[in-house]
Amino acid sequence: MNQPKYKRVLIKISGEQLAGDRGYGIDPVFIDQVAKQLVEVESQTKAQIIIVPGGGNIMRGASVANKGIDRATGDYMGMMATIINGAALTDLLESNNQPTRLLSRLEVDSIAEPYIRRRALRHLEKGRIVIVAGGMGNPFMTTDTAAVSAALELNCDLVIKPTKVDGVYDSDPVSNSEARHLPRVDYLRAISDEKITVMDNSAVSLAMDNHLPIIVLDLLGDRKIQRAIEGEAVGTLIHSV
Ligand code: UDP
Repeated sequence: MNQPKYKRVLIKISGEQLAGDRGYGIDPVFIDQVAKQLVEVESQTKAQIIIVPGGGNIMRGASVANKGIDRATGDYMGMMATIINGAALTDLLESNNQPTRLLSRLEVDSIAEPYIRRRALRHLEKGRIVIVAGGMGNPFMTTDTAAVSAALELNCDLVIKPTKVDGVYDSDPVSNSEARHLPRVDYLRAISDEKITVMDNSAVSLAMDNHLPIIVLDLLGDRKIQRAIEGEAVGTLIHSV
């Protein structure tokens, strides 16, 4: 086993990635593939792993606001969606024999433990994957910001943001075959370049203020998450360049 470069890592998994090819809702077969990969990463690297799920595959507050549903209500619905995703991930990780705990920043005691920092740290020390759902617990925020905030609070040394493509490009690689892959991107460019939309500006700015590196990579690429944790240059590193 290679000694991992990063010892405690937070992985932000967008709701979109839990929908598989369906585009909406939850695809258990696809999430099982993701879970199997995460179990492999944990056993190969022994890094402590925290997951923050998004909720966009089920609900985004902004999409229902001003249509008779208050934006704040829509946002709480979005936070509940992250808990639905977290519950699915928890069961699929556990069905792959990976001890996992679902914690939530929104109170839903019947299905998730309340998020308590010291409890999350204790779970990590015991080799459990910790899923922190419920976003930040307040409206008008995103799970990207919740991910960076949790990573800082739980002393993570890396945030991984999986996407559909292998990192950040100077234009959309899906529509432009000439798009150039960028192995490293400065925080300031990630914030100011309108073509780089991989993570919310507020999340990148919080990472920048606290010198927390972010690696963007493709979710099911060839052991990309494991290789990133081991210190190999995969995807795109967002940091001070
Ligand atoms: N949300 C919120 N506060 C938070 C996190 C999320 O209000 O701290 C709501 C917001 O409506 C958001 C939705 O939950 O649109 C789903 O989260 P997000 O859009 O970040 O999910 P992703 O795009 O990663 O799937």
